[in-house]
Amino acid sequence: MSEEALVNFHKVADRQGPGSEEETLQAFALTGLGQEDFVRVADIGCGTGGQTISLARQVNGHFKAVDLRPGFLAELNRRTKQLGLQDRIETIAASMDDLPFEEEELDLIWSEGAIYSMGFTAGIKNWKKYLKPGGCLVVSEITWITHSRPAEIEAFWNTAYPEIDYASRKINVLEENGYILQGYFTLSEDSWRENYYQPMEDRFATFLEDHNHAPETQQLVAEYQEEIRQYEQFKDFYNYAFYVAKKG
Ligand code: SAH
Repeated sequence: MSEEALVNFHKVADRQGPGSEEETLQAFALTGLGQEDFVRVADIGCGTGGQTISLARQVNGHFKAVDLRPGFLAELNRRTKQLGLQDRIETIAASMDDLPFEEEELDLIWSEGAIYSMGFTAGIKNWKKYLKPGGCLVVSEITWITHSRPAEIEAFWNTAYPEIDYASRKINVLEENGYILQGYFTLSEDSWRENYYQPMEDRFATFLEDHNHAPETQQLVAEYQEEIRQYEQFKDFYNYAFYVAKKG
């Protein structure tokens, strides 16, 4: 899959992963940070910044929105200007495993649907140094929500992301690494269906037409259709979950 086709497909969307404004703000409420405090925030793997904008509208602070893909950041800059938020949101093209931050510069690290790129454990370990003492980490991460599950979905995730685990184990990883849990909750079905998969399905036909049905675009669409089918079949066994934790 070419980088360009992937970015073209996703950059027009409000979000590049499951979630909702409501859940973003619910997670923020669990941080205990006040809306009137001035907070220094990094949003890592921000995409086109759906959640960055939701937070920046509500929270007084400075946001460093980081993504590997300049195409997403260009779109976020466009939206930011349109909303008059350019003084609050700064975009930075960088990789999450090599962030251009100072130690202890941040009150809040945010990352929705992205930490899997470097792995949950590596991410929470590596990013901790950028948080001020008492600073807060908010990440969403794919999580097993039942004790057992059909072999098919187990095999899929064990190949796609072997770090998938139970919430209790994720929380344990946070605690072993010096974080104090502030809260945990899973996403609603609407966050997957209405906010992520349905808008994708609505774009498939135009995307294929715009790229003259190039084989790589057909492949991308087929992969997403399979992902959606799988979600519908196995959604009782996994979900994205928010983990909110303080640096101890
Ligand atoms: N947080 C957004 C986007 C989630 S999709 C949302 O929830 O809508 C995951 C994002 O992580 C993509 O924008 C992708 O470009 C970015 N990403 C993937 N690997 C990365 C890396 N190594 N460093 C920084 N960003 C990365």
